[in-house]
Amino acid sequence: MMIPGYVLKLMERLNEAGYECYVVGGALRSGLLSLEIKDYDLTTSALPSEVKQVFSDYRTIDTGIQHGTVTVLSESHPIEITTYRTDGSYADHRRPSSVAFSRSLQEDCARRDFTINALCCDRDGTIRDFFGGREDLKQKLIRAIGDPDARFDEDALRILRALRFAAVLGFAIEEKTAAALRRKKDLLSYVSMERIAAECRGFLEGRAKAEILYEYRDVFAVFLPQLKRFSDEEMKMICARLERCDADWTAAMALLLSDLDEDEVTGVMHSLKCSNAETDAVKNMILLKDMPLADRIDLRKLRHALKVPFPVYLAYRAALDPETDTEKVSSLYEETSDDCVSLKDLCIRGSDLQALGLQGHAIREALDQALLAVMEERTVNQPDAVLAYLRDQSIF
Ligand code: ATP
Ligand code: MG
Repeated sequence: MMIPGYVLKLMERLNEAGYECYVVGGALRSGLLSLEIKDYDLTTSALPSEVKQVFSDYRTIDTGIQHGTVTVLSESHPIEITTYRTDGSYADHRRPSSVAFSRSLQEDCARRDFTINALCCDRDGTIRDFFGGREDLKQKLIRAIGDPDARFDEDALRILRALRFAAVLGFAIEEKTAAALRRKKDLLSYVSMERIAAECRGFLEGRAKAEILYEYRDVFAVFLPQLKRFSDEEMKMICARLERCDADWTAAMALLLSDLDEDEVTGVMHSLKCSNAETDAVKNMILLKDMPLADRIDLRKLRHALKVPFPVYLAYRAALDPETDTEKVSSLYEETSDDCVSLKDLCIRGSDLQALGLQGHAIREALDQALLAVMEERTVNQPDAVLAYLRDQSIF
């Protein structure tokens, strides 16, 4: 694996000062799978105070110094350097109540969650693999390090991390890890909904989300109890839709919740502490799930009502109905790009109607009617024509 210069020079500096330092976790996992590397995390035998001393001429940030993490800014890349550590006892099924720093790489690897996340490599590219991570990468397996029951007991978030990595990487969960994860699923109630939602977002963008959701629906039902209402057949259908969707996670979420009523959808999104914008996006797609998409008039009405990017909505519709002719719908959408689809595109204003004697609500209603008539080509978007149309409708 090629380690970039701005990372290598930090590793060299620590080594020269007599400390060990390895690239660990996601970067190595992604590198070995030839996937894009998001960021480089380093693990070191140096204590946080020693890390700060070694990089006294760098900008450093005490990100999580009590857990051993110092961020060093290298050529404007923030690099997290974490001291080898072992975790103390876990009181709340989520975080260790204490951590102890260590000088042993193997001990540091042992506290990590999965074998594929505990691979390390030094600056020469030599890989250290204490738990068979490379073999599991080859076999495409998510396997807990150590006793899986104990590891999920310590930190229940690992249950969802396992499902997320399985979905994103398209890996299976090793048998004993899978059995433990199911046994421990109720511990998810100790995890904050914000963390659950963050994992769900990643999960829903994963390529194998449909398979994993179907296989582990009892686990998801711990925080999405609405899933329990679906029969096996219904669940299969939902997963078939998800299988067809590779858009933004909001589209996948809309597919998952499409058969619930609006209040339930709001309830799920709020329970997951999703933002109002995310909630509105999901609700908007579901509200428009049956919108016809056959001609320009339909597409104008869609433009009028749509609150999410068109490609996200189209992916949602195509996943709901694989017969959707996405090319045709896309070109119809393009054709309507200059059309009148909102009140601000309309050639008359409220003040024009006020001048003709309309008041209050009646103004808004008349404008809406005029807009609909323009979109449906019952009048052209010119003041005389629009006003004549409204007069024909006995609006004034
Ligand atoms: P990504 O950043 O793509 O989610 P990552 O593997 O880098 O993947 P991070 O959450 O950034 O994941 O964590 C970095 C490393 O820290 C992991 O690879 C793993 O070794 C360890 N780790 C993270 N969270 C946990 C946890 N809850 N329990 C045990 N080890 C963990
Ligand atoms: Mg990471």
